[in-house]
Amino acid sequence: MLRDLEYLLQLQEIDRRIHEQELAKKQLPEAVMELEQTAEKAKKLMEATVNETDETAEELRTLEAQIVQAKEGLERSQTRLNSIKTNREYDAVHTEIETQKNIVHSSETRIKKLGEDSVELKTQAETALQEFEKFKSENDPKIAELKTTIASIDSVIAGIAKEREAVTPLVNKSILRIYDQIRKRRKDGRAISCVTESRTCTICYKVLEPQLVSEIKRRTKIITCQNCGSIFVWTEAAKAPDQA
Ligand SMILES: [Zn+2]
Repeated sequence: MLRDLEYLLQLQEIDRRIHEQELAKKQLPEAVMELEQTAEKAKKLMEATVNETDETAEELRTLEAQIVQAKEGLERSQTRLNSIKTNREYDAVHTEIETQKNIVHSSETRIKKLGEDSVELKTQAETALQEFEKFKSENDPKIAELKTTIASIDSVIAGIAKEREAVTPLVNKSILRIYDQIRKRRKDGRAISCVTESRTCTICYKVLEPQLVSEIKRRTKIITCQNCGSIFVWTEAAKAPDQA
């Protein structure tokens, strides 16, 4: 019996490691997805700032071209004024001149406003780009590391399962069956309650009668917790994994 309980403790430790890996297998891809989504958001934010700067620069170029065109038009209209013969023609050319003057004026006003904005936008875009590069240089290695870990989980589990296969034949079959039944019912896979001088069930924290504790201490039979069903194993406090 003493040996069986020792092996059960070993099994519990092996199963705890398998459980940990299975949990990681479920959780790590979610963590990768979250990091990738955060990166995508940061990229979009940076791109929006850079785009706005580019659009402002583009608008400035268009306005400048408009001014050049309007000024050329103005010159042509001024020249035509000298050869005008009718009042109707005179009015038409004057309307043209007014329109072109308005274009020059409004374009210049807009350029002045954009010129101030564009300096600030350029600084913002440079900062956004730098921040994004910095974020990426930290985020990308994290993602790569997680992906490497995820890729190796199955072989890690297979390795631990081999350790399990080496221990299970050493345990009495009926005891192993009890252990497996309890373990499968548990979300965290823990079936062993390591009892120490603190005299409580380490799974459900029920306080144990002194009589029961001495029986557990003798390690001569399988005793399960009346409250939670875990298998009691007496453990020196320093060695008890559940007390860690
Ligand atoms: Zn219990």
